[in-house]
Formats: sequence, structure tokens, C-alpha cells
Amino acid sequence: MIINVITSIPDILDAANHGILGHAIKNKQITLNIIPLRAFSDRADGRIDDRPYGGGAGMVIQPHVMSKAIASIGKSHFIELCPKGQRLNQKLARSFAKKDNITLICGRYEGIDARIEPLIDQKVSIGDYVLSGGELPALIMIDAIGRLIPGVIKTESVENDSFENGLLDHEHYTRPENWEENKVPSVLLEGNHQKIEDYRLMQSLGKTWLNRPDLLLNRKLNERELALLVKFMQNHQRRGEDYD
Ligand code: SAM
Repeated sequence: MIINVITSIPDILDAANHGILGHAIKNKQITLNIIPLRAFSDRADGRIDDRPYGGGAGMVIQPHVMSKAIASIGKSHFIELCPKGQRLNQKLARSFAKKDNITLICGRYEGIDARIEPLIDQKVSIGDYVLSGGELPALIMIDAIGRLIPGVIKTESVENDSFENGLLDHEHYTRPENWEENKVPSVLLEGNHQKIEDYRLMQSLGKTWLNRPDLLLNRKLNERELALLVKFMQNHQRRGEDYD
């Protein structure tokens, strides 16, 4: 998959060259092209912004500079990072992971001149807060999308992740079995795969009910799931614990 990023501060994108994303880039599962916006400035000092018409605080990225940067890319799916855009979630990340070529456009200052809108396919926000630039949102997008590209990480890991099936992930445990008087739940040590699967699904349903009940409103539970959730709720109420 090709991911282009138009940015006025290319160095921030260096962070993509580490961890799982770094491997995916080295293995050519992701081609990351960083397009420095200042290269398209028509001013000797490389400036890309100017004062807003109508007055007010803050500068605005000039439309002709951004449009030249966009035109340099050719055919792609153009996504502007913007607090006013569609909120990023796992489903949206998955839809981007299916594309061959996307371009992430990072704003700065008060944003980009609104007249570039016809050149944009979509605006995406990473949440209801305002950052000073689109580079961190772009990194978040690249990470969320990158791990969904087949082969980048094990399909099984992705399938069980939070939000993938409309639930939060269950808890995870590793060695030692007993740490500071806290034992790993015994069911995980018994080797009964059906019981482990039921236990994990119950935890997943229970944690979702406790922490993100809104997710359960959008998800129909089957009979098995309903029974496990009821069991979790009963345990929770009886002992204030969330497992048996
Ligand atoms: N004046 C804009 C507003 O209130 O909607 C905020 C501009 S912000 C300071 C500068 C740039 O940071 C934006 O153009 C966008 O690229 C990026 N940005 C900030 N917050 C963001 C968010 N929540 N999601 C995506 N991009 C964001």
C-alpha cells in the first residue's frame, strides 16, 4: 500500500520508521512517501501561509501551495486531517486499509484555505480535541491502517483486538503465574480451550458493559454471548469481581 503524506514538518513523520510500522516499511508492505509542502511555496523564504481574510488570529495555509502539492501526487484517495472531519474508528481505518494509495494532508495554523475542498475526497478527525498540526493525526492513521494490512501482523491478533467485533478485548496475562499475591485466573492454566474461549468472551462482554456500554447498544448479542454477559453481571454483583 502506498501512503503519501503532505506536511510542512516532515521530520515528525520519522516516528513511523519504528516498531511494527518500521518493519512494514522495510518489508515494502507500506511505501511511505513524505511530500514537503514548503517545496511548493512560491516565496523565497519557503512560507506556505498568509493572514486570514476577514481578520482574526492565526494564519492559513495558502490554496495554491497545497493544490500544487496535491497535483504532484497523481491518482490517490485524498484525506485531509481536520477536527471537523469524520471521526476515525476501527471501521474507517479498515476501509482505508483496503485502498492501494491514500494521501494524508496535514494542516497547520488555523488550517488550510477552504477553497481546496474540491481536491479532497474526505476529511478525518482523530477525536474531539484540537492539536497544533495534522502530523500526529497522520501518524495515528498510518499506525491504525498499517496494522490492518494483511501480513503486517498476525490476522489472529487483529481479529481479537478491541472494536474489531464491536467489543473491547479481554485481559491478557503472562508469566509469572503468581505476582505479588495476584494469581492468573485458574481457567487459563487448565488447558481446556472451550472454557478459555468462553472465559475470554465473557471478559470481553463484561469489560465492554462496564467501560463502554454504548458499544453494546450497536451490537446484537447471540444466545451464548447473552448468557455469558449475564454470568459476568451476576459475578460482578455478587462478589464485586469480574471473573470466577
Ligand atoms: N481552526 C481549526 C479548528 O478549530 O477546527 C484547528 C486547526 S488546528 C490548530 C491545525 C491543524 O491540525 C488542522 O488543520 C488539522 O490538520 C490538524 N488537527 C488538529 N486537531 C485535529 C484532530 N482532532 N483531528 C485531525 N486533525 C487535527
